[in-house]
Amino acid sequence: MAEPSLKIDNARYVVTLDGQRRIIGGGSIVVEGGRISRVGKAAALAGARADRVIDARHLVVTPGFVNGHMHISYAHAVRGIFPDDLGSPLAHVFKLQMAMTEEEEYHTSLLAIVELLKNGTVCFVDPGSTKFPDACLQAYEDAGIRVIMGDCVTDREAPFPLPRYGTDEAIARTSSFLAKWHGRLDGRLRAWAMPFSPETCSAELLRALKRLADERGTMLTLHHGSGPKARKDYLDRHGLRPTEYLESIGVLGPNVCLAHALGIDEAEIDCLARTGTAVAMCPVTAAKGARGVPEHGRMPELLAKGVKVALGSDSPNNSNHLDIVRAMNMAAIQYKDARQDMRQIPAETALEMATLTGAQALGVGDAIGSIEPGKKADLVLFDTERPEWQALFNPINNLVYNADGRSVHTVIVDGRVVVDAYRQSFVDEARLFARVQEIGERLLARTGVTFPRSRWPIV
Ligand SMILES: [Zn+2]
Repeated sequence: MAEPSLKIDNARYVVTLDGQRRIIGGGSIVVEGGRISRVGKAAALAGARADRVIDARHLVVTPGFVNGHMHISYAHAVRGIFPDDLGSPLAHVFKLQMAMTEEEEYHTSLLAIVELLKNGTVCFVDPGSTKFPDACLQAYEDAGIRVIMGDCVTDREAPFPLPRYGTDEAIARTSSFLAKWHGRLDGRLRAWAMPFSPETCSAELLRALKRLADERGTMLTLHHGSGPKARKDYLDRHGLRPTEYLESIGVLGPNVCLAHALGIDEAEIDCLARTGTAVAMCPVTAAKGARGVPEHGRMPELLAKGVKVALGSDSPNNSNHLDIVRAMNMAAIQYKDARQDMRQIPAETALEMATLTGAQALGVGDAIGSIEPGKKADLVLFDTERPEWQALFNPINNLVYNADGRSVHTVIVDGRVVVDAYRQSFVDEARLFARVQEIGERLLARTGVTFPRSRWPIV
């Protein structure tokens, strides 16, 4: 069904992310058939008519944000349960995740989507957390968001309960998942191969899944990390660093996006650069999880070598929030501090990772990520009539350093207005919030996962 045409008229600024990185003061955008048809000065487009005109004089327009690594599932129901002194919560995480029912997962996914869209994210990668994609399809469809999903598989022993299969079964499952899901929702849904990690998958499985991604014209993602200990283990076992090992078995390439990628060294960055492999980094997760960004984070070096880096938020019990504006802020400030060098990750670079570069990392850079004629109309309109946006001279600095997702006013995906002046209309939020709280209480009771609700007495 064709969406009505739309004109965003006389925006305070349109941050285009086009080839010249133009920022158009007093800019207008015309959207027809779900795509951007014209972008320019409001005066030049004064004659352009549309079914709906949004008066954008107080709004700053950016491309829609992408989230390159975002576990959508159990965590929304039990967000914030892990105390800071817990150490690794992974054993609890997988226990809770495995216990989710279909109906529960539908509601927690819906909540995640509300949060994503209201913070300006138009496309996210769920690295295989969703157990019941059939049930969740309705949520994706109703919300109008873009989703990249897959079937998480492993074929080796893991220290926590992951979905484990025989190698052939894991390949067959991925093959049928791709066949069933890739390209649905008018192309808004993409299916990728999603082996969990190199440590939990055999080389045979990883190779076969990469081949499937190649054959089907889609991508592959997996969790990946390195560092002194992992490097020593891999060098002892394979004579290669972790990332070199992936290259040696043919599992790197432009249709591969490695998640986290902390701890990689220069030689490993070179592997990624020469194979065109992309990376999704989760700056807030890294900081909150005390992952040692000063020692292990290589975002500036990856970008300098031309590696496409997307930002992610990981699970809502890792970063806890799904706000890519806050992720941009963290990326921009954490490397300045880590390197004691204010030139690291400028605000513009952070915004590129959240939009165009991130979209390229996820293989959707031809369709979204910038505001240019011919691209899909995926747009975020920020409300500047708020204290944190004053005074406004440099919209990029204000966005990355002053603002957060709460000033997202309107969101458009595929030419359809999905958040309209702060409101979405695909779900009753009050009922959904109550339902998710109830799901969380039941999930904790059922699994026996229990923590004091606070380190301070709740009376
Ligand atoms: Zn993950």
